[in-house]
Amino acid sequence: MKKNEVQAILSNVRRAIHAYPEIGFNLERTRAYLTALLQEAGCQPRAVAGGLVADLGSGPGRVLLRAEMDALPLADGKKVSYASQNAGACHACGHDGHMAMLYGALLLLKENPPANGGVRLLFQPAEESPPGGALGMLEAGVLDGVRAAFALHLNPGLPYGKVGVKAGVMMAAADNFRLTVLGSSGHGAMPQGTVDAVLVAAHAVTALQALVSRFRDPLEPLVVTVGKIHGGTASNVVADKVVLEGTVRTLDQQLRQEMPGKLEALSAGVCAAFGARLGFEYLWGYPPLINNRELTNQAAVRVKETLGAETLLELERPLMGGEDFAYFLEKVPGTFLFLGTGSEHFRYPLHHCCFDFNEDILVHGARLLAALARETGSVLNI
Ligand SMILES: [Zn+2]
Ligand SMILES: [Zn+2]
Repeated sequence: MKKNEVQAILSNVRRAIHAYPEIGFNLERTRAYLTALLQEAGCQPRAVAGGLVADLGSGPGRVLLRAEMDALPLADGKKVSYASQNAGACHACGHDGHMAMLYGALLLLKENPPANGGVRLLFQPAEESPPGGALGMLEAGVLDGVRAAFALHLNPGLPYGKVGVKAGVMMAAADNFRLTVLGSSGHGAMPQGTVDAVLVAAHAVTALQALVSRFRDPLEPLVVTVGKIHGGTASNVVADKVVLEGTVRTLDQQLRQEMPGKLEALSAGVCAAFGARLGFEYLWGYPPLINNRELTNQAAVRVKETLGAETLLELERPLMGGEDFAYFLEKVPGTFLFLGTGSEHFRYPLHHCCFDFNEDILVHGARLLAALARETGSVLNI
């Protein structure tokens, strides 16, 4: 198949998916569309834990390639023919492109199958909504027989066509918390005798930043963000309850384990100082994403061979974003790579309602995924 033929096919697939984005595990249409595509290509996909798995070739060992299926709950801001037809949902994280690239890899692997072992294509639900779709698929046994796993994520933060690789920790653990400040209400003009939950919450938000500035080694990355705050009923009523929700990002496992205790102690202290009570919940999210060193080096070789030495970008620093592909990499060696889509014209970041990309990138991604699947089998001798 010629490169521009594959390019045209993948662009169509991406647009078909893009026009009907679905969220979380509610992926009926996406699943049906992919099932038909995979069947057409001669595969027998099976539905697993809300996602799809299709095997290619035989042999005891397999290389797994993963793409996410879910979109984000936001309105599409693009004025394009393939804009979202599902109000309030948009593929703004590139997952539509990931599905198209994985399908492209299948087409290429059909033409030129691996000499050793088989390939498992995995389409995963609910990456954007923790606890995520990866765990369910892992529990269903999708890693049985799998020796290595790869995933490729579009990234407008990198120049178009560059492939970002990084051995070791690449993305953060992403945990969430909910603080409930409980005070006691009264007239806004006569605050004496009340416990103002808004005032206490404001102090708590400020104090939490000391976790970053004063409670940890300054050389150890940490983010604490309060992203949501909700409380009060009227301008002249002292609020008796404020709920704060936020996220904690860490790279280090020990710091990660310490964070709930530090967060609770600090917020409980602030509440106590003002006579308020604290409700505390800590919601563990995705673990840090750690790329296997050997397979990352192997992947770098594949990038150079397949797309050219100039496309390889060795990333020096990890990102504080989270990814549930981390769960796969806790079980099998593998690596997560970024494929750059940034350019003058396509400059919106991921999760922006106008995020879009030049679809010529899809064939590059498909070729790289196919090469990773084909060659890793030989390297691992599976
Ligand atoms: Zn995302
Ligand atoms: Zn994503």
